Order: sequence, then C-alpha cells, then structure tokens
Amino acid sequence: MKPEVKGLHHDHIDGSIAIADVITDLYAMANVPFPFHSTRAWKRYFRNPHEDILKRFATVTSVLQSEEALTLAGYAYGRRRAEQGFRYVEAKFAPQYHTTGGLSLHDAVRAMREGLTWAEQVFDIRIFPQLCIGREADPKVGVEIARIALYYDGAVGLDLACDEGRHPPEKHLPAYALTFGSNVRRTCHAGEWVASHPTETYRQRLLENVRTAVRILKCDGIGHAIPLCNDPELIREIVDKGIRVEGCPLSNLSCGAIQSVADLRIDGLLDAGVLYTLNADDDLFLPRMPRVIAVCDAAYDFTETQKKALEENVFHAAFAADVRTTAI
Ligand SMILES: [Zn+2]
Repeated sequence: MKPEVKGLHHDHIDGSIAIADVITDLYAMANVPFPFHSTRAWKRYFRNPHEDILKRFATVTSVLQSEEALTLAGYAYGRRRAEQGFRYVEAKFAPQYHTTGGLSLHDAVRAMREGLTWAEQVFDIRIFPQLCIGREADPKVGVEIARIALYYDGAVGLDLACDEGRHPPEKHLPAYALTFGSNVRRTCHAGEWVASHPTETYRQRLLENVRTAVRILKCDGIGHAIPLCNDPELIREIVDKGIRVEGCPLSNLSCGAIQSVADLRIDGLLDAGVLYTLNADDDLFLPRMPRVIAVCDAAYDFTETQKKALEENVFHAAFAADVRTTAI
C-alpha cells in the first residue's frame, strides 16, 4: 500500500492543472483571443521543456490581471484539489505578477483569497494561501508583500521563489525580518536550483541557501532542500526547530537537478524526524501527485512508519493554525 497523501504544502496556483479548467474563460474575461487551437494544444505547449519557462507562465499570468480573473482562478484551484481528494492544501501565488492590469499587490491578494474562500465554502477542503516574493523583485517589493502577510496576521504565509543563484535568500531579509515575532509563517524555496553558478560549487551553494533560509530568514519551512541529506548537522537543526521540508522529488527529477529520487534520501530524512512532505510543485506541466507517490514508494519501499509520517506531516506541520491544532 502506498502512502495516502491528503494534503499539499508546496503547490503553485498558476502552475496547477486547475488553470487548464478555466484557461479559455480567463482569456475571454481578459478580452484577449486564446492563442492556441485548443486547451489541449496549450497544455502540450506548456509541457514542452524546450519552450521558455517564463513565456509558458506568461500565457497564464497575462490573463490573471483583474480581480474577477484571480477570483475565478482561486475558485478553480480549490475545486480541482477537492475533486482530487485533498483535504488541506497550501496554495502559492506571487502577487507581483498580477499588477500589470492596474491592480495593487493588496488587490491581487484580496481577489485570490476571495476565490480560495469561495471554493472552501462549496467544497470539503481547507486552503491556506502563501504569498510568494518573486526573488528578482526589488527588496522593497518584498517588504510590501511581507506587510500584506502581516496584515492578514497568520492567515497567509510568506514564501520566496525563483532563481536562488542570482537572488540568494538573504536579498529579501528585510521582508522576512519584518515578520519575525509575528503570526506569519515563513517558508522559502532553497536548495532547488542555482542556474548561474558553476557545477563544482553547485551543491555547496544550494546547501548554503538552505542554511541561510533556516538561520537568517528564520523559516518555518523550506521548499525543496535537495542537498539536505548531505548535512547531518543541518538535519538535526531542522528537526530541533520543527522546520518542515516541502519535498518535490519529481519536480527536481524533471528539471535535471537530481539523477534519481533516491538521491534525496527521503527515507533517512523521515527516520531522522524531519517533517518531510511529498508535493508535485506545478502539476500543470510536471508529474501529478499519484505519480509522485508511486515513483517515490517504488524507489524507497517506504516502511509503515515512514508512510504514516508522510501522511501525518501534512497536518502536523500545516501553516494553518486550526489544521495544526486539530492534528495534534
Ligand atoms: Zn515551487
């Protein structure tokens, strides 16, 4: 029996398969002709690794520039995840990519939350939003996003995403520091990819970014943390501090960051007490959760204890206080 994963900690709304449910509606709302023959043709384009990743995402974010569109996307996201059987999901989105149509960062967050709340009311699912700072942004934009997270006082989380080579975690320390001592839970994409660094220092740079996220940004969660298994001292620190690790094994494999999911030594991390969870990352173009679980289970042949941990960590390490409290 494979682990039964009923929740997600690392899930990007604009990279989720739910967008395919409404992509033509979003183009119609934006009054822009859909530039593909069909949704299927667009999905094929999105899944082609040879196409530019930023251009692929632009086919989504370009039509997510109004409150109505963001609300619809949030609703569609919650509906799809509920239909897939998830009971608790943490949904990431970066408000800075939704302001070219005149929305403020705050408007964008409000509109997306409205859609997510709407889905929660209709379907049996709890959704916790995470506000991502696209790390290429000026630190001032990061600070503004952190202020919005503070405004919601723990009802949304804070995350940092994209190229950690050119924009290492410490760049956005001003934003993170603003939330120290508050109810805002912090996570950070770290130890995922550092495209601009040479191969020989690659793993070391990744590890350094994980350390920075833990020690400087004081994160409660880390997204990816690929080389964590190489640093027993950091593993102990992460366990002692109760920091969760949002693993995305097939995302890492698809991007060529690892040769095999076994490289992550997920079994060892679980045995050491790391609050590790399995996630798909962007299931619009990366393998979906049933495949993530099947591939990992085949690679590791998880023990009953490890399976139980993978199932329960989703709730024990939830950023939503109500979900965490119920799980304990
Ligand atoms: Zn991610």
